[in-house]
Amino acid sequence: MTVIQAFPSGPFDTNAYIVACQNTKKAAIIDPAPESGEKIRAYLSKNQLVPEKILLTHSHWDHIGDVALCKRLFNIPVYIHENDRSNLEVPGSDGLPCWINIEPVKADGFFDEGDTISVGDIKLQVINTPGHTPGGVCFYIKDHNILFSGDTLFKGTIGNLSFPTCVPDLMWGSLAKLTKLPPQTKVYPGHGATTTISAEHWLPRAKELFGE
Ligand SMILES: [Zn+2]
Ligand SMILES: [Zn+2]
Repeated sequence: MTVIQAFPSGPFDTNAYIVACQNTKKAAIIDPAPESGEKIRAYLSKNQLVPEKILLTHSHWDHIGDVALCKRLFNIPVYIHENDRSNLEVPGSDGLPCWINIEPVKADGFFDEGDTISVGDIKLQVINTPGHTPGGVCFYIKDHNILFSGDTLFKGTIGNLSFPTCVPDLMWGSLAKLTKLPPQTKVYPGHGATTTISAEHWLPRAKELFGE
């Protein structure tokens, strides 16, 4: 069984997630947002889960704020797409306005389109979804029709395309990939409530709706 727990944290209520395999008690932390680390630690301990890795959908500061803390607490590796590594290693280099101190972290490894990441019996597939950032990704659990969409897709809208490192032209192809997922796929976004692919029926018209 797959367990997913959200921890909305930090100034933008960014959703940090724990995804855990009940059979093996192994867990991954997705996007440890600012002020999420202690909540994550408490949840893992209470449920006797063993964190194995940190996975980042992208490197905006509101998604990486407690990466350094989680690495210290759990001594586990952090993975990101190579095209988003610079802001993880030099926070602020992406030019986003930021008013809290983000501790730099060196990535332990990089994933890319089609890679499969194991968390116990759970398999997460990496889907490259550049646009909101150059190295943005989604994580797809095919066996359970679950998608972690980062800041690519939210309930009712898409991620901001006006930040300095955004690549708006690539966003439409990224969203087109998500459109092809099974309609019943449950979407866990980087901010706000969950949704499904079928509920976001406007997805095929995203460029028309959100393009310039
Ligand atoms: Zn973002
Ligand atoms: Zn965000």
